[in-house]
Amino acid sequence: MKFNVISPKTKTDLLKAMKNETYFRFGAGYTDLIPEMKKMEDIGYSIINLAQLNDQTFRNIKRGQDVIRIGTLATAAQIVNDEFIAENFPVLHQAANCLASSQIRQVATVGGNLCTASPSGDISCALVSIQAQCEILSESGNLRLIPIADFFIGPRKTSMKNNEILRSVIVPINVKHHEVHSGFLKVGTRRSMECSVVSLAYHILTDKKAIIHKAGIAIGAVAPTIRYAEEAGNFLLGKNISSIHPDDSELFANEVLKYASPISDLRASAWYRSEVLFNISKSILE
Ligand SMILES: Cc1cc2nc3c(=O)[nH]c(=O)nc-3n(C[C@H](O)[C@H](O)[C@H](O)COP(=O)(O)OP(=O)(O)OC[C@H]3O[C@@H](n4cnc5c(N)ncnc54)[C@H](O)[C@@H]3O)c2cc1C
Repeated sequence: MKFNVISPKTKTDLLKAMKNETYFRFGAGYTDLIPEMKKMEDIGYSIINLAQLNDQTFRNIKRGQDVIRIGTLATAAQIVNDEFIAENFPVLHQAANCLASSQIRQVATVGGNLCTASPSGDISCALVSIQAQCEILSESGNLRLIPIADFFIGPRKTSMKNNEILRSVIVPINVKHHEVHSGFLKVGTRRSMECSVVSLAYHILTDKKAIIHKAGIAIGAVAPTIRYAEEAGNFLLGKNISSIHPDDSELFANEVLKYASPISDLRASAWYRSEVLFNISKSILE
């Protein structure tokens, strides 16, 4: 199958291409798109290649006072190398750092990870736990902002329309906390080059007395979409993170499990996924 490739260099050219093409797909790092292209229907698709787009809002990671704005074309490697993210959002740093291999991390983008909408997307799972917002640009130049939890509507389905593109992801910076207890746990069938069989992203903030006042929990690969386990996070509020009773750890793990509806497939059974999710959920409080 042949594809017509258009490589806009400016935002104006990008919007023009989006208006002119009837059937098109965006290409960023191509790590998901190329395998997918082999299965695409031959209806004369164009590829709008984002790799040469020279617009800093799409490319950079920029820190403001209250938010970090991550351009859709920022790569997993850019996330890993960002010191502020490593220090304040270990969950995102770790998720980007365990994506595929170092070669793939150089090209795989944040936007590609989100827009593929895989239930096992690692960066996506971390971004759900920290309640990022998605900034979406339409072909007419209008912007809309949606909570990331509303972005994923099904396996490989997002709430974006055909004439829209994800421009950036906005992460709120929580300044009022003392410590961050944050991380990304990924269980696969191999140590690298492997999508998650189960993943858990957690981002828990405590005050000076180690009391939890914010807890974002997200789970991956155990439901049709990545899920934000709101009630599990709420269960932790007001508890002292350094002295959580083992019974409470179990209750917490059960709360997390309520958000899972795993399936059995080639890589793992539904039973295995539930057991693993329960155990890793408990482990983050031990
Ligand atoms: C060997 C291998 C191992 C992998 N391991 C992992 C892993 O461990 N964890 C993991 O999470 N993923 C993994 N992946 C999947 C993939 O690398 C990631 O999902 C990556 O982040 C996709 O980014 P990309 O830039 O390559 O996206 P692309 O392939 O360029 O695009 C992916 C999809 O998103 C759309 N898209 C891209 N950018 C935009 C945008 N700005 N707006 C709207 N639509 C857009 C494209 O049209 C396409 O449908 C792996 C892939 C391979 C090949």
